[in-house]
Amino acid sequence: MRIHDFFQKFEGESFTYNDLICLPDFINFSMEEINLTSKITREITLRTPIVSSPMDTVTEAELAIVLALQGGLGIIHYNMLPQEQLDQVLKVKKFKNGFISDPLTLSPNNTIQDVVHIKKEYGYSIVPITEDGKPHSKFLGLVTKYDYSTLSLEDLEKPIWERMIPVERLSTVVFEEFYSEGYFDLVKANNRLLDSHQAALPIIDQLGNLRYLMTRSDLQKHQNYPLATTNSSQVLRVGAAIETWHDKAIERLAALEKHVDLVVFDTSQGHSSYLVDLIKFTKSKYPHLQIIGGNVVSSDACEALIKAGADGIRVGMGSGSICTTQEVGGVGRAQASAVYNCAQICKRKSIPLIADGGITGSSDMVKAFILGADSVMLGSLLASTSEAPGKCQIKNGILLKEYRGMGSSKAMQKGSSFRYSTQHATIKIPEGVCGAVPSKGSISEWVPCLIQGVKQGFHKLGYKNFSELRCAFLDNKLMLEKRSDGAKKEGSVHSLYEITQDAPPTFSKSHYEDLINV
Ligand code: 5GP
Repeated sequence: MRIHDFFQKFEGESFTYNDLICLPDFINFSMEEINLTSKITREITLRTPIVSSPMDTVTEAELAIVLALQGGLGIIHYNMLPQEQLDQVLKVKKFKNGFISDPLTLSPNNTIQDVVHIKKEYGYSIVPITEDGKPHSKFLGLVTKYDYSTLSLEDLEKPIWERMIPVERLSTVVFEEFYSEGYFDLVKANNRLLDSHQAALPIIDQLGNLRYLMTRSDLQKHQNYPLATTNSSQVLRVGAAIETWHDKAIERLAALEKHVDLVVFDTSQGHSSYLVDLIKFTKSKYPHLQIIGGNVVSSDACEALIKAGADGIRVGMGSGSICTTQEVGGVGRAQASAVYNCAQICKRKSIPLIADGGITGSSDMVKAFILGADSVMLGSLLASTSEAPGKCQIKNGILLKEYRGMGSSKAMQKGSSFRYSTQHATIKIPEGVCGAVPSKGSISEWVPCLIQGVKQGFHKLGYKNFSELRCAFLDNKLMLEKRSDGAKKEGSVHSLYEITQDAPPTFSKSHYEDLINV
């Protein structure tokens, strides 16, 4: 049935993703043509429509960096002091792929043999030479593999100063010249490296001391993240969550506004005068800041936040995997219905919608997009990755990662009681639980798997990109059906005597090359 007719027919019923199934349509393109670029706010675009939830077992700097490199975006949680949150934001902002801040260095009096040793032991073929051999002292020159690879055995005992390329013959960059307002201009530095025809670009300070080294091989790695979410200066983007308690919010906004790309006003019930006022205040005081308002589940609520100035809307109440809001208060909405109803107004007003909570895999992501979401916010699916801050434990031989609701007692003690408006309550009933999820490994492998699953869904549906999907939504062309219990059973694996372990997804080599240590 056509999507709008479907929801009209079942008005008054609440659907989860699992209750629905999308129907396929005509395909006239290859899967490689699918492009999942989408907006998260009026002004910010993601090439991978995945946002990490601002939860204290999900998003801190490490996860935000790796997710942004994959084309998504991390939202740093607020269960920490404003200064600590700012430090996390700055860690993301200062992440410079391709920058070596502590290169292995030698002095001019070391021998070529020492350079060969570094190559053998650590695999580095470029060694900067400094006056006393320490990484941040006076820079004197570079030794690259061309300076020693063809030498005879006796030459190995020669001092480095006889073979190195001295600083006078090298192109270098003075750090301060490329640095302004807290950011280093990576684009300019990359161009300088390319123009220099050198294997590496030494970055020195005004006194001539070595600060960083950029190498050509790292530059290539940088180019391996074609999806990375960056601003126009190639700096990774990051968001921060802010509580909706006025005084606290003002303090946090003041600390973050210069550095963060967007703020998420984080409350479990965002249809309130507090949030409307806060959005209006923020828009007038910090007009450069992109604002995501939520959480909401109805079109009236979306309208109020959009009218106040929200640049994106976060939708979901009670659908999160760790969440007990619906059990405690009997309030919320099944997530598929919430997304669809909010999308009605968001699509008309061209305000991006983030479907937050209840996503269990790529199939739910496809359904969220069909129902009108422009991106999904993930909690449990990212808490399970090695970059998430939650602790690891092994239980029954399975590696688990800690995952807890921001409404759990433990998280609320750290500050998130504001999210549930219980900061002044004498008795605080938790609206979330603490638990653990099986480890999924690195985001660098996990997110591409999710995205590939989404692409396979888009292909079967016959849509190449979000703009085609948006038109189909507005023109009532999308088809879906309600699944009976039998249909749900049939739609998952069934009738087998046993399930043997399937082979893990296969990756092209470049995915392994992309793995990074942050
Ligand atoms: P998940 O992806 O794990 O299904 O859901 C994550 C989402 O659940 C978060 O982005 C947030 O909106 C919501 N959430 C996080 N912690 C809690 C909690 O303790 N209680 C409730 N009601 N919702 C939570």
